[in-house]
Amino acid sequence: MPDVAARPDVQTLDNFIGGRWVKARATDFFDVHNPAVGEIIGRTPLSTAADVDAAVQAATQAFPAWRDTPVNTRAQVLYKFKARLEEHFDEIARIVTIEHGKTLDESRGSVRRGIECAEVACGAPSLMQGVGLEDISAGIDCHVVRQPLGVCAAIAPFNFPAMVPMWFLPFAIVTGNTFVLKPSEQVPLSQRKMVDLLQQCDLPPGVVNLVNGGRDVVDAICDHPGIRAVSFVGSTAVAKHVYQRATHAGKRVQALGGAKNFVVVMPDADLERSIGIITESFYGCAGERCLAGSMLVPIGDAHRETRDRMVAAAKSLKVGDGAQPGITMGPVISAKHRERVLGYIDKGVSEGAKLLVDGRHTRVADRPNGFFVGPTVFDEVSTKMTIGRDEIFGPVASICPVKTLDEAIALMKSHPNANATSIFTASGKAAREFSKHATASMVGVNIGVAAPMAYFPFGGAKDSFFGDLKAHGRDGIEFYTDKKVTISRWF
Ligand code: NAD
Repeated sequence: MPDVAARPDVQTLDNFIGGRWVKARATDFFDVHNPAVGEIIGRTPLSTAADVDAAVQAATQAFPAWRDTPVNTRAQVLYKFKARLEEHFDEIARIVTIEHGKTLDESRGSVRRGIECAEVACGAPSLMQGVGLEDISAGIDCHVVRQPLGVCAAIAPFNFPAMVPMWFLPFAIVTGNTFVLKPSEQVPLSQRKMVDLLQQCDLPPGVVNLVNGGRDVVDAICDHPGIRAVSFVGSTAVAKHVYQRATHAGKRVQALGGAKNFVVVMPDADLERSIGIITESFYGCAGERCLAGSMLVPIGDAHRETRDRMVAAAKSLKVGDGAQPGITMGPVISAKHRERVLGYIDKGVSEGAKLLVDGRHTRVADRPNGFFVGPTVFDEVSTKMTIGRDEIFGPVASICPVKTLDEAIALMKSHPNANATSIFTASGKAAREFSKHATASMVGVNIGVAAPMAYFPFGGAKDSFFGDLKAHGRDGIEFYTDKKVTISRWF
């Protein structure tokens, strides 16, 4: 591994506190890689509890004036932010591809989804309204207003560097809260760019702060008495940890966790039109989506055709550097994660699943050091196998044939995760049954990636979500506000 200290071109990132970029008090650093090239492109400081405290102090100071700023003025900041994001749209997408590895088209799609959150949050003057009723008793009126909570924090995962923070930031600040963001230490570069742009939008210092780092920053956020609410997105184990630790400290928490998504194919499905959608669900973003298909469950006669088409589709993908034209699947995030995914493929073979397409030996000639795993297809997988149970978070499709729709639903129900699921069918009745009984709370009917738009709630169930109010949409407004009821009588 190259010595970063000896490479002046590799920058150490700063934190953004009180309206300025400042050095972290870190003594440890995390190397950020371009996963397609395998080279170090930055260093994330692993900030300390003292850095978190400095950010919370700045956010606390900024809160009273920001809370009292009229909501439409707060929304104007987001209109300006949206305009800046549009101006720099391609630049941000390119940074996402460089730090994460997904293709440029995938990055563009994710940045677009992020911007949509700012657009929805601009509706706060309507969305934040309360309710009222006069004469609840003789001469007595009652009204409800929504008020911001105070300092709120969000902790992001690596897989959507530009988008996931936007599920929270616009909703938090437009409702009058101040904010501390912790990006994933693996992909801090697009957030730095976005905060730079936000700084140009007349946002008072301290309203948005960014602290780079890893688990110490997360734990400091959970524990800090000055933080009122925490939004988390990441793996189930950490989501559970954050939920328990931060609620124990008296905070409001929404923690979105990992996934194992079942994609069911009925014998009547139009596979000619669906296979591209299904393939995209499993292999888009190299399988590193919380909504990615993982278990492909063909029912009855659908097995043979689904399997054969999946194999052909997997083989047709062009693996390489997502920044290059024509590439349809990029690398996974890190050398470590590559090893983890390869380990799962080995495990699938040793546990008796039938390996139909083997991505273990995929090499990209002009990117010999990239973290590539080729599209992989297993058949005859059961949920008792490790690959049928664990979230692999890589380009591995596990086909698990069953006889009936009830069996498919039962299979899904038996899994502790319940993020997203899809059914491919021509039958309205089957789709209705499936949607009604699905444990996952994001359901696609002939849709492979059931991602709710910014004006709908995003989040799963069971071990995929801890909390009650989900991300963005009206839930975002609810999460970041408290309802105050005033009952009044005038003599
Ligand atoms: P992760 O859980 O490893 O990390 C998420 C965040 O937690 C990061 O900011 C990281 O610094 C921090 N963290 C990591 N380990 C920690 C620990 N032991 N203690 C405290 N903090 C810790 O997740 P990831 O690998 O960055 O992201 C992939 C995961 O996120 C997948 O499981 C995926 O399904 C999930 N995800 C879920 C959703 C959803 O909507 N449910 C969306 C995106 C990603």
